[in-house]
Amino acid sequence: MDSRYEDVEQHLNAHVALLNAISWEYAPWSEPKAQKQHQCEFGCLIERGSKYFRKLWSPDRREDVKLCRACMVKMLFAIFGTDQETTKRALAIDKERWDTAVRAIRDLRDPPESKGTAAN
Ligand SMILES: [Zn+2]
Repeated sequence: MDSRYEDVEQHLNAHVALLNAISWEYAPWSEPKAQKQHQCEFGCLIERGSKYFRKLWSPDRREDVKLCRACMVKMLFAIFGTDQETTKRALAIDKERWDTAVRAIRDLRDPPESKGTAAN
């Protein structure tokens, strides 16, 4: 088997994090345990009690995208495993979001408008 494919499989959580970095932040992929039997987007069966990947997409959850583990690995391999540029871009976006979050937390502690007025 292609070693790049094995790399995606062995570091699946890290690759899902990369996928979430390039996804809309309000519609992330999560890995719940199936409360009932589902069908994967590519036709596989997701058995009740097994873990699968779900992209939260609609408020009533009817349009959520569901993938079995094997199909998620294949998709991540196609997106990241074959193209290091995509991985670099995802890491850059992830860092940008992280930096934005850190700035927001700093601003909460020390609002920008209060800076320089501490002596009052
Ligand atoms: Zn599948």
